[in-house]
Amino acid sequence: MGLSNSLLSSIITESLGKEHLTVIETLSKPKHDEEIAVELNLKPTVVRTLLNDLHAKNLVGYERSKNKKTGWYTYLWKRRQDKIDAFLKAYLDEALDARMKELDMEREGVTFHCSCDNGRVSLEDAMETNFVCPGCSGRYVESDNKKIIKELESDIKKLKKLRNK
Ligand SMILES: [Zn+2]
Repeated sequence: MGLSNSLLSSIITESLGKEHLTVIETLSKPKHDEEIAVELNLKPTVVRTLLNDLHAKNLVGYERSKNKKTGWYTYLWKRRQDKIDAFLKAYLDEALDARMKELDMEREGVTFHCSCDNGRVSLEDAMETNFVCPGCSGRYVESDNKKIIKELESDIKKLKKLRNK
């Protein structure tokens, strides 16, 4: 799956966090958590928390081995590229699904807004206050959502393209 790195970066940042992304980026080859901590200048406990988050999403795996002298376990962490691809695909599917639902709503529904720009309200909500905005006492006017529909359509096109790569 030839998904670009920038897409992977933005999706991991959005769904987990910026620090998670830096951790996954340092795992170009398998590393111990202490090594990652030194490399990123973070506390080992912080790195372990980040790794555990990534592990919960199946994006990293580890090999555990016991130090015979100390009796302590060490963990060698590695990226799970196959799972990363599946994660991206699932994320894109979800985003696509959400956009399509939004598009359906925009195509079907009539919405209203007022000059104080308090967001858009549904027809039901506008009727409830007699088309008067409770925030500014201005009148609600019908919103033109052509631009929003266009944006959603182009988003959907992009997402479909990414997903099929
Ligand atoms: Zn208003």
